[in-house]
Amino acid sequence: MWRRLDAPQHDADTRLSGLETRMPLKVMTAGCDDGEKSRLESLVRAAIGDRSERGNWSVSLVRIGTKLSTRLEGPSPALRDVSFMVTEEQLQESLLGALRDAGLVTPHDESGAEGPTPNETQRNAHVCGTCANAFVVLFESFPEEAERTVPVACPHCWQLNRVPVGQWAAEGEEYRAEKA
Ligand SMILES: [Zn+2]
Repeated sequence: MWRRLDAPQHDADTRLSGLETRMPLKVMTAGCDDGEKSRLESLVRAAIGDRSERGNWSVSLVRIGTKLSTRLEGPSPALRDVSFMVTEEQLQESLLGALRDAGLVTPHDESGAEGPTPNETQRNAHVCGTCANAFVVLFESFPEEAERTVPVACPHCWQLNRVPVGQWAAEGEEYRAEKA
């Protein structure tokens, strides 16, 4: 069963129904003509790629002279309100830079191949520090992702254990424990 800690309900809904509930990526522009708007939108979509299927993303672009005042918001804490001023030519690389800083770009992405590597579901075995029963922690992982230690409730006795999960799962609280 699911056991989540203070996570908003819609995250669980997204994960449970998979691709059927794709969150839209919102791209807002100001001061751009229609041709520029669609060009900028495809640059943004190319940079964010399949990540737009997980969580809410919005990018706002305001044309100021030759520069774009860019504001990015993504589903991880490192992507709350990231802003920069760039030219159109620099936009895609700057977005990728922000994703890289947030730990969301894998080496596979950087190679320019056909999109991000699919997630892999990890099942890590643990023993509860309180009741000594075995449980598994399930989470989606990405290649070469950093680990974070998170609190997870034992599915036998509900006492909190601290276990390592991937950075993406930790930031989105996208993990759960099951009886082994
Ligand atoms: Zn326990």
